[in-house]
Amino acid sequence: MRYVSTRGDTTERRFCDILLEGLAPDGGLYLPVSYPQVDAATLNRWRALPYADLAFEILSLYIDDIPADDLRAICRRVYSKAIFGTDAITPLKPLADGISLVALSNGPTLAFKDMAMQLLGALFEYELSRRGEHLNILGATSGDTGSAAEHAMRGKRGIRVFMLSPHGRMSPFQQAQMFSLQDENIHNLALEGVFDDCQDIVKAVGNDLAFKRAHRIGTVNSINWARLMAQVVYYFAAYLQSRADTVDVAVPSGNFGNICAGHVARMMGLAVGRLVCATNENDVLDEFFRTGIYRPRSSAQTHETSSPSMDISKASNFERFVFDLLSRDGARVKQLFAQPSFALAPHEHARIAEFGFVSGRSTHADRIATIRSTWQRSQTMIDTHTADGVKVAREHQRAGVPMLVLETALPAKFAATIVEALGCEPDRPPGFEGIEALPKRFTVLPADANAVKRYIETHV
Ligand SMILES: *Cc1c(COP(=O)(O)O)cnc(C)c1O
Repeated sequence: MRYVSTRGDTTERRFCDILLEGLAPDGGLYLPVSYPQVDAATLNRWRALPYADLAFEILSLYIDDIPADDLRAICRRVYSKAIFGTDAITPLKPLADGISLVALSNGPTLAFKDMAMQLLGALFEYELSRRGEHLNILGATSGDTGSAAEHAMRGKRGIRVFMLSPHGRMSPFQQAQMFSLQDENIHNLALEGVFDDCQDIVKAVGNDLAFKRAHRIGTVNSINWARLMAQVVYYFAAYLQSRADTVDVAVPSGNFGNICAGHVARMMGLAVGRLVCATNENDVLDEFFRTGIYRPRSSAQTHETSSPSMDISKASNFERFVFDLLSRDGARVKQLFAQPSFALAPHEHARIAEFGFVSGRSTHADRIATIRSTWQRSQTMIDTHTADGVKVAREHQRAGVPMLVLETALPAKFAATIVEALGCEPDRPPGFEGIEALPKRFTVLPADANAVKRYIETHV
């Protein structure tokens, strides 16, 4: 398989080259030149496979520059009961009224990002050691991404992580998840500023090309194709477990990575009828699917909500879907994304239905009501992001078609809103009791790119 950019540069690259890169040189995102097709006989054969071997089968359609035995071993190491808690890895949890959750949040940080990040960590370590290289990952986090990245990269040879977070602004649980890591290759930098300052500093350091090259700075952001590819696997696993002919899938969305993997699975021939894109009050994507207008917000226009991992102003993975929607016309994609916002032509917008997309939005009041009703009807506690998914899923249910909702985090991560909705604390999975009391390892720095650079220089 070869990969091309969404902005018209048709230079073809191999998987291991794009693995360690961010954006394509023309500013686009990488996608495979075509989507491998999975026929009914193959799908039937896959039904009997454990998750790790299903992952191997799907990944090997996209990766031809890692020997099969190595790739299989990586998949088996990553998608194990030891890391994800069950043999099924992503079991279905039926709720009342025709909806099932796809449990994606039983990894080390209790959010679905572990599903992809754990694979990314293993692939990075493998490829860096093969090349005899090392990488210093610089990232910014308001909570979920940073902890998933640190837990995936901890102890990995050839990799150091420098993770910027806003000092004192993460929840005590999130701080504990990151700051309690004692691994020497993990550096938590708590900046005296807000999340946007952290992100600006990551950008500023990345724009200093000499520094970036000299210190081998890389990222783990959600535009990495390997993360998306890892997420394609659980759409297949969930479909196979459902035993239905067709399923609809609802996805709590922020940067459009998770649901874009559903789009890829559908393009491979998986019988997903509808992809239901659920947003919170930050409804850039819902607006797009309804109107064909893409209008990224400024950080000042981005609401702080009780489903914070969906508080995005622009959806960084979204360009991949637009590329397919516009029949892979890279010149048109480039023209659209060069503008601060854009409107599709009516005939372009009309094609959204062919790709199965529908959408909706959810508010704080909806989340509270949905957490409550799900508890009452199904005795199942769901987190705030999953609640956005369930709320919008209910609006799009079709008779006779099972609706799957991707569970993107466990309620233990967002306890305050659970208390507001249900009047009691969410359960904590074993091993997470009292993590706030563990010794913490972090360094406070001013919100200043030079201070961050100096820290990196003295710790590589
Ligand atoms: C990251 C995240 C999302 C949004 O996923 P995208 O791939 O960015 O659309 C939703 N819920 C939770 C809990 C997350 O951590």
